[in-house]
Parts: sequence; structure tokens; C-alpha cells
Amino acid sequence: MKKYNTIFLDRDGTINPDPGYISSLEQFKFYDFTFDALISLAKNKNRFCIITNQSGVSRGLINPKDLNNIHNYIKNKFMENSVPLLGVYFCIDHPDNSTPRRKPGSGMFLEASKDHKIELKNSVMIGDSKDDIQVGKDLGMDTILVLTGRGEKTITDNPDINPTIIVDNLKKAADWILNE
Ligand SMILES: [Mg+2]
Repeated sequence: MKKYNTIFLDRDGTINPDPGYISSLEQFKFYDFTFDALISLAKNKNRFCIITNQSGVSRGLINPKDLNNIHNYIKNKFMENSVPLLGVYFCIDHPDNSTPRRKPGSGMFLEASKDHKIELKNSVMIGDSKDDIQVGKDLGMDTILVLTGRGEKTITDNPDINPTIIVDNLKKAADWILNE
């Protein structure tokens, strides 16, 4: 098994389907394999951190209170399943006017690293977009591209993206980590 200090997870398209700008708890659901994957990794002493761009807030499409409800729901589900979650870091910046917090900027990762003493170079980033892979690489992490969400399009648009590995979904990512 590969032993990572922390497993970073993108949110939309990685742990839950991404219909675009999820603005209420009613629109949010986990993939049916998500907790299968997370529980198997948690049993092997892995801990997690969610890092998500949520520009829908700056675009006026998502109410911050609803985003907070969704993130509380996510945190509760992790807790119910005994999956250790260090935090949900989110950035509401609009891409046209973004700070280094917004992926592929590294701001949220550095915050999490400081808050929880994370060794980034011994960690892995799992996500479905180019930005997820880019920031993971920039920080010296392993990177796993999942083909759920925007994953297929990410490869078509960026044939030279070259993550550590490409897998069908989060469950396959867990299998790879546990068998590597
Ligand atoms: Mg995503």
C-alpha cells in the first residue's frame, strides 16, 4: 500500500456528480461508490481533506448559506462513516478575478498544510480537472485523475496532462492506492 500523509479530494465530479453550480442540498448527492472507497482507505489509516473551487458564489448562483449547508452535510457523512476529514476548504473567487487560493493556485493547500501539519510532498491529490492535477504537481504531490465529472474532457483537452495515474473513478483510485 502507498502510505500518504493526506489524501486531498476535489469535490464536484470526484466525490459527487457535478451538474454544475450545485446550489442546494437537494441537488447534492455522493457517487454510490464514494464511501466504499473512502471507508476502505480510512481502514488503512488514511486521512482526507477536501479542496474545492466554488465560483458559483461570486457569480451569484450559490448562496453562501446553502454552500455551508452542503459542506456540513458532507462533514456529517464523513463522521457517520468514521472517515477522518481534516476540513473542507473552498474558494469562492471568480476565475476572472482570482487570488492564489483558487485552484490551480496553491493557497488552500498551504492553509490546510499549516492548519494540520500536512506534509504536502507525501500527499496525493485526486480530482477530475486540469487544475486539480496542475496544483498537485506544483506542490510535488502524486496526482490521480478520475474519469468521472469532467475527467474525460480533461484528457481530450489536455492530452499531455500526465498525472501519476488515470483511473475510472474514486473507487479505482482507492484500489490503486491500497494495492500499489
Ligand atoms: Mg471537479
